[in-house]
Amino acid sequence: MSDHPSPVSTGLACKCPRCGEGRLFKGYLTVRERCEVCGLDLSRADSGDGPAIFIILIVGAIVGAAILYLEFTWQPAYWVHAVVAAVLGIGLPLLLLRPFKGVMIALQYRHNAAEGRLDE
Ligand SMILES: [Zn+2]
Repeated sequence: MSDHPSPVSTGLACKCPRCGEGRLFKGYLTVRERCEVCGLDLSRADSGDGPAIFIILIVGAIVGAAILYLEFTWQPAYWVHAVVAAVLGIGLPLLLLRPFKGVMIALQYRHNAAEGRLDE
């Protein structure tokens, strides 16, 4: 197992979970069919909505904390709250989604997770 790259580091870098070299995505969030370096089949490694729920929880906590901090620190006008919440609420998920999806795919690969199958 130790000859494999860490799922977290390859995932955060959006690299292939087996070789750590090939790129995982071909578009913003489209997973490649196979790794262009080692040929690993990535077509089944779709994490679906998995990353989204983590992002929602994390971003929700960050945005909520930021709004409270702003209010108690500067008591800014309401439009400032609206702008901050919109920027954080839209920008953070866009920043986080790719690395999160990369980590989840890498973890799936490492633990051989797949859709439930009865013949195994
Ligand atoms: Zn690879």
